[in-house]
Amino acid sequence: MGRIIDGKAISAALYDQMRQEVEQLERQYGRRPGLTVIIVGCDPASQVYVRNKEINARKVGLVSEVIRMPEETTQDELLAVIARLNADPAVDGILVQLPVPKQIDKNAVIAAVAPDKDVDGFFGMKSGFTPKHGYVAPCTPRACIHLIKTTGETIEGKHALVVGRGELVGKPVATLLLNENATVTIAHSRTRNLGEIARTADIVIAAVGRPKIITGEMVKPGAILIDVGINRGADGKLCGDIDFASAEPVADWITPVPGGVGPMTIAMLIRNTLDCYLNHVKKP
Ligand code: NAP
Repeated sequence: MGRIIDGKAISAALYDQMRQEVEQLERQYGRRPGLTVIIVGCDPASQVYVRNKEINARKVGLVSEVIRMPEETTQDELLAVIARLNADPAVDGILVQLPVPKQIDKNAVIAAVAPDKDVDGFFGMKSGFTPKHGYVAPCTPRACIHLIKTTGETIEGKHALVVGRGELVGKPVATLLLNENATVTIAHSRTRNLGEIARTADIVIAAVGRPKIITGEMVKPGAILIDVGINRGADGKLCGDIDFASAEPVADWITPVPGGVGPMTIAMLIRNTLDCYLNHVKKP
């Protein structure tokens, strides 16, 4: 029987711990960490994500600001706001909520955020996230690694299979696993014999976006399964890329969907902001 990796409980504990850390940091350095989120336009899903980020940032005591810009904002106007925030010493983290309206080049926006304030981890991705660079990793991949570590199992030396090679999850999480000294395989839509490969994996991270494509007979007994996928199943209910019902009895550890990786992502955004703050206050 697989044990559940409870993302809700783990993120709640993290928020608690970070709230205490923020109080202590304010006493030590005389200011709280600052996170500014910019949202351009009125995409309804983005509004919900930004609201959740704001609520959780406030919960841990960050100085949290949301800058709302109209749909018709030009690229130059957005870049000017980012430049102002880059130069503001009270702002440790800047996040531009994606997608941006079509008149704005997403890549120009990502490139404009100061690397030491890039809490989304885009810059870190380019540098391979080696600790010496000081840039943070993207939130969802970082959440996956954190969840594996909460099991108490080691990552080093294990065979980790990442299913999906997307820019936001698959590729960066594979790099993070390599940094943890796992032996990493990356599968994708052209991979042959996914089942055969999966049956040799001690850790599986599924980031595909296809309901239940990893089934119990593809799972190595005792494996750790991290399900990033968020899908609507045939029954209309939310489900992951891993078929929980058949995989859970075979695995040692498994994340549920919902309640696994999802709740951890914003917690990691806050953690990234604290890490950027620490880099700023400790700068010689
Ligand atoms: P993505 O960029 O579209 O990547 C999907 C990957 O899956 C691609 O590399 C694709 O391969 C691969 N793939 C497609 N069909 C496959 C198959 N049958 N077998 C093996 N691989 C297959 O997607 P993403 O942005 O990484 O997101 C993936 C999932 O994670 C989505 O469900 C998304 O909603 C979810 N997500 C969740 C969170 C969270 O906080 N929980 C955060 C981000 C994303 P090719 O490269 O060959 O096309």
